[in-house]
Amino acid sequence: MDISGPIDRVGSLNVSEANLLGDAIITTKVDAVINWGRQSSLWPFVFGTACCAIEFMATAASRYDISRFGAEVLRFSPRHADLLVVAGTISYKQAPILKQIYDQMPEPRWVIAVGACASTGGFYDNYTTLQGIDEIVPVDIYVAGCPPRPEGILDAVMEIQKLLWREPTLEARETEYKGKLDV
Ligand code: SF4
Repeated sequence: MDISGPIDRVGSLNVSEANLLGDAIITTKVDAVINWGRQSSLWPFVFGTACCAIEFMATAASRYDISRFGAEVLRFSPRHADLLVVAGTISYKQAPILKQIYDQMPEPRWVIAVGACASTGGFYDNYTTLQGIDEIVPVDIYVAGCPPRPEGILDAVMEIQKLLWREPTLEARETEYKGKLDV
């Protein structure tokens, strides 16, 4: 193809060069490609302690099928996971364990508090129960209900999928929180 004629510019290419390339290439940003991959490959770590964990099991099973959202690879190793799902009542005795699991997850990572107990302590307003996991870890999405339905958990996963598009690849998210939650 002759590209030596008069030049009309399309971005940094002239028209003839653009036609020559056709749709063989696309241009985008590194952040967009990586977050596109992340969106459909969330690996949840489920910290399930009570009834809300049963709701998560229903969410993962065939009827609600969390794999439709690419989040079915459950990992009970924090090093493998990027989505912490806290489902159930968290006692003060369990709180340091939950915090350690969060600390061991690599960045970027996200947290969903499933149900009233994880979000606020629920009706366990007593000396044994943490009054919301956001006292020890940063929470991205809260799911209301006692218990929430699986649709609510799936909605939270979809909200995380929207949130992660804001994740910059070259900027460490931990700097936002580092030191603030350490006790
Ligand atoms: S929010 Fe309700 S259903 Fe969920 S763990 Fe607490 S008591 Fe159980």
